[in-house]
Amino acid sequence: MADETEKPSATVAPLRKAVPCPICRRPSSREHYPFCSNRCRDVDLNRWLSGSYAIPVADDETKADEDDR
Ligand SMILES: [Zn+2]
Repeated sequence: MADETEKPSATVAPLRKAVPCPICRRPSSREHYPFCSNRCRDVDLNRWLSGSYAIPVADDETKADEDDR
């Protein structure tokens, strides 16, 4: 009857465990892993250097330690 319901997800690009490029979200290439290209790797590096990356501070560990007492 309703053959338009639930289609197999085979239509979507197969998601292997490949990590998408963190810069442009394209599939990463083996050569520039985890980025898709040298360019994106540079972009990432520049982000680090310019400090626009929000680096999570591991304050939680110390908190958990106090909590344990
Ligand atoms: Zn990219």
